[in-house]
Amino acid sequence: YGKVQGGNRISEYTNEKSKQYNELILLESDIRKAFKFNEFTLSYQPKVDVHTNEIVGVEALIRWEHGKKGKIPPSLFIPIAEEIGMIDQIGEWVLREACKQFVRWQESGANPVMVAVNISAVELQHPDFLSRVKQIIKETGMDPNYLEIEITENSVMQNTEECIEMMNELRSMGVSLSIDDFGTGYSSMGYLQKFPINYLKIDQSFIKELFEESGSAEIIKAMIQLGHTFGLKVVAEGVEGEQILSFIRNQKCDYYQGYFYSKPLEADLIEEKLLAFS
Ligand code: C2E
Ligand code: MG
Ligand code: MG
Ligand code: MG
Repeated sequence: YGKVQGGNRISEYTNEKSKQYNELILLESDIRKAFKFNEFTLSYQPKVDVHTNEIVGVEALIRWEHGKKGKIPPSLFIPIAEEIGMIDQIGEWVLREACKQFVRWQESGANPVMVAVNISAVELQHPDFLSRVKQIIKETGMDPNYLEIEITENSVMQNTEECIEMMNELRSMGVSLSIDDFGTGYSSMGYLQKFPINYLKIDQSFIKELFEESGSAEIIKAMIQLGHTFGLKVVAEGVEGEQILSFIRNQKCDYYQGYFYSKPLEADLIEEKLLAFS
């Protein structure tokens, strides 16, 4: 009897697997279609000065409203896009759109703020990445001094020499660099001294655990100090409440993002906020 049951379990398992597999295949072709038919949009989340509460920048975040399945989060489709070779095209679109939006905000009379774009490891390794960034800056009229590129620790681990060279080139153009999801990668911290970065973004998992896990407060403090030691500005991600904000303020964290200030918003709503400050 046990064997039969085991067998059933296995066939249920394979059924489940093949369902997931089919789902994946569907999503693949949907991603291609979504790109072709312009179904992607960008939302922008304010990055705020911890001490003055002013918006100093926004982070562009891709959004996909699927015709039948509703909203599909980037954490689900970006890895698939990387795998099926669509990330370069999507990433190029994101960068161009964010740069165009910066110019539109400028034209509306808003004071300029930094615009950050997430770049995946796969995009970063493409030999044409740098020339693509240059081309987009030129073509959109983006001021590179307001462009920030967010990369994760893991993505800078590959191709170190070339990577440093490219980062230096970006910096010499005026572009800023951030390490996103800081603390979650597998890398050693040696890169902090080797790489020409400007910002460290403490991953939201640490911020979330602040009042739940003992030791989290110490980790956050240490990360802020570490960043400052290397002359970097430190950003806390995922700040959802006043208590956390006052903790990071006491620790002299520089900037924060999170639902406490604002969720990611569409461009027009950001424009209103920017104009209110201008
Ligand atoms: P990320 O770059 O670390 O972005 C922060 C994520 O945290 C965003 O999720 C944002 O909506 C969310 N978030 C911000 N504040 C809070 C908060 O207070 N509470 C909670 N629970 N969440 C908060 P989102 O937009 O779903 O993006 C997830 C990840 O997908 C991003 O993490 C980034 O790694 C990737 N991603 C998003 N847009 C792009 C893109 O255009 N290109 C690439 N390559 N990756 C992207
Ligand atoms: Mg990011
Ligand atoms: Mg992050
Ligand atoms: Mg991330």
